[in-house]
Amino acid sequence: MFRLLDEEKVFKDPVHHSVYVQEETIWRLINTPEFQRLRRIRQLGTTYLTFHGAEHSRFSHSLGVYEITRKIINQFERNGYKDWPQEEKMVSLCASLLHDVGHGPFSHAIEQVFDMDHEEWTCAIILGDTAVNRVLKEADEELPQKVASVIRKTYDKPIVVSLVSSQMDADRMDYLLRDAYYTGVNYGTFDLDRILRVLRPHQGRIVVKESGMHAVEDYLMSRYQMYWQIYFHPVTRSSDILLKKIFKRAMELHRNGYTFKFMLHPLRQLLKGELTVADYLSLDDNIAFAAFSQWALEEDELLADLSRRFLNRQLYKYVQLETMDLKLADSLREEWTSIGLDPEYHLETDTVVDLPYDLYKPGIETGPSEKPPILLLDEKDQLTEISAKSDIIRSIAGIHRGKYFIYYPEELLREKADLLKTRTRELLHL
Ligand code: ZN
Repeated sequence: MFRLLDEEKVFKDPVHHSVYVQEETIWRLINTPEFQRLRRIRQLGTTYLTFHGAEHSRFSHSLGVYEITRKIINQFERNGYKDWPQEEKMVSLCASLLHDVGHGPFSHAIEQVFDMDHEEWTCAIILGDTAVNRVLKEADEELPQKVASVIRKTYDKPIVVSLVSSQMDADRMDYLLRDAYYTGVNYGTFDLDRILRVLRPHQGRIVVKESGMHAVEDYLMSRYQMYWQIYFHPVTRSSDILLKKIFKRAMELHRNGYTFKFMLHPLRQLLKGELTVADYLSLDDNIAFAAFSQWALEEDELLADLSRRFLNRQLYKYVQLETMDLKLADSLREEWTSIGLDPEYHLETDTVVDLPYDLYKPGIETGPSEKPPILLLDEKDQLTEISAKSDIIRSIAGIHRGKYFIYYPEELLREKADLLKTRTRELLHL
């Protein structure tokens, strides 16, 4: 059963001012080793190398998502909306608190190298032999399964899924505000209180009262700005590229039987692709940094150089291209090899594409991964997809804007600049 704490607990939070915990289960989940581990994982991975304030953790973000979800549900309950299934409150709160519990250090970069999925790890932690699993089970035998299916977006109450995962969910609302706060940028903010007031449960989903349209416009614009100014910042992409190359090199060395001077058990299992849940839970930013500082002293010159670069922030330089020219990339690779550089490690092409708002197209099947559209509810109880009423959203919806870059170690190329083609020297400003 869901017992209330004798006295509610309050966390100070720079984004929401306070985070309130009333249920014993939530309090016990926060105090599990698996949730406390999130303090040791940066929310924005390598972004701190671009925006030095971005040191905030997945712990603070997860508490924030919980707090937004709690406020939304409170608003529904205060107003007595019949379309909100009250018995789903705890499933929703637990899922929002735990939605990122499976993130590892520098998740997005590591997931690409090792072909992992943090959502699957989240479910493995919720369902596995963990303190999180025991706390959930003690509250309700079926709670772990329910929470995992919310994470997998297969839960049979879609309204719960849409709280945690939709185009305007508690997760996105928290990370946009939090990331804007910690990076120190001025865009990225929107009126959260106003949005929370205009959300309505309606026939199994969450919709927006029409008078809240402008607050939603602001939210989508802030998302658009944050993607291009923060999340896709080319310097952050450059740091991510270095990080991926470090792990790629380590994995290659491991496969070739190289003897590392420094290796820790969970790292070896990561390189082997044989992580258990317990191994995975012992990975955090600290272990990754310990490895980089020791790998900077390895005999393998490539691994040592990449690790030193990452630690000392000697990032690859970049140039932006008009389009992604595959022929150009191929010819650069050949040129790199001819001057003794390794194109696998000393060159990277990168394309970033964002879709600011997934427009709902009538008649086109939406797959399970696609997020449902944002719907406005008018006074006659009619629903309209938001871009049909908002000029601003129509103008940014469906835009697939792409940017294309080439990354390279400038000083290594500069040493051999006279061996490079004139065209290449001009392109890379050497
Ligand atoms: Zn999240």
